[in-house]
Amino acid sequence: MFRRSGHRSCPGKSSVPCLFIVLSLLVSSAPGAAVDDQAAGQDPIEISQTAAVFALGNTEYVLLHELAHALIHDFDIPILGREEDAADTLATLVLLSKHHSSDPDDKRALAMLLVATDAWTVMWQKEREQNADFKFWDRHAISAQRYFNIVCLIYGSDPSEFAEFAKTFRLPPDRAEWCEEEFDYASRASKRLLAPHKGQNAGSQIRATGTVSVIYDDPPTPLSEALKNLIQDSGLLEKTAKHIETGFGLPADMKIRLASCGAPGAGWDIEEREVVLCYEFIELYYGFGQEAHVEEIRELLHSSSSTPEKSD
Ligand SMILES: [Zn+2]
Repeated sequence: MFRRSGHRSCPGKSSVPCLFIVLSLLVSSAPGAAVDDQAAGQDPIEISQTAAVFALGNTEYVLLHELAHALIHDFDIPILGREEDAADTLATLVLLSKHHSSDPDDKRALAMLLVATDAWTVMWQKEREQNADFKFWDRHAISAQRYFNIVCLIYGSDPSEFAEFAKTFRLPPDRAEWCEEEFDYASRASKRLLAPHKGQNAGSQIRATGTVSVIYDDPPTPLSEALKNLIQDSGLLEKTAKHIETGFGLPADMKIRLASCGAPGAGWDIEEREVVLCYEFIELYYGFGQEAHVEEIRELLHSSSSTPEKSD
């Protein structure tokens, strides 16, 4: 049973609603996809360091995005607007909060957020190259908008610290002037709405008995195997699971699963109570990370966007 009708399922795993993305259109052009042809069971391959950061950052971002769906559902968090936008906002706020934390484990949070941001520029360019129809009716904002929404929240969280970043990531001044306010609204809303379900407050609202376990299914390709090892070595899934388990009063157990889905995707499966991240999706983002020209894409995205006269 899906939470709503209309959620598409991840290919090969019919019970998983792909809340985040279905990217089969892009698979054929992703550099990482070529490795799919290699037979599983071969020697582990060496992975590129830059692309590994890209894969890891996007895995973290999508994991947080899907966990946001889970928390929104479990705690019946009220939302104005699209749930997908809210999940993006929560994922971004968590990484920004980690960036400002003194925990040494969190020192790479900003780098993870920046590569997740840049992934949307790569996605936008690929959709453009393939003349993909932009789904203006979709539950998700289009890729370019998701990019600018994240950039705006980063800049708005501290315009002084991120002044140079706003230039590098081509945030137009007409949007930038609203970002501090956008961040402030989002930050206050998330704190207020999640506070009753956090830490010591959780016990009074809900029986805080839910645990969060992590499962690694067998990876389908040598590249997936290498990326699984990378993710396992980072401890990302386990640390995030612990954070959710101890930080919130979950109404029931939950799982985080790396799975082979047959196509890129990720989702929160309400019936199984598990966040599924597909190996194919992580491979796709690894491939994006091998494309060394994100600066050029940012420029192209900026120059392709009209800058309207201010009207409100
Ligand atoms: Zn989503």
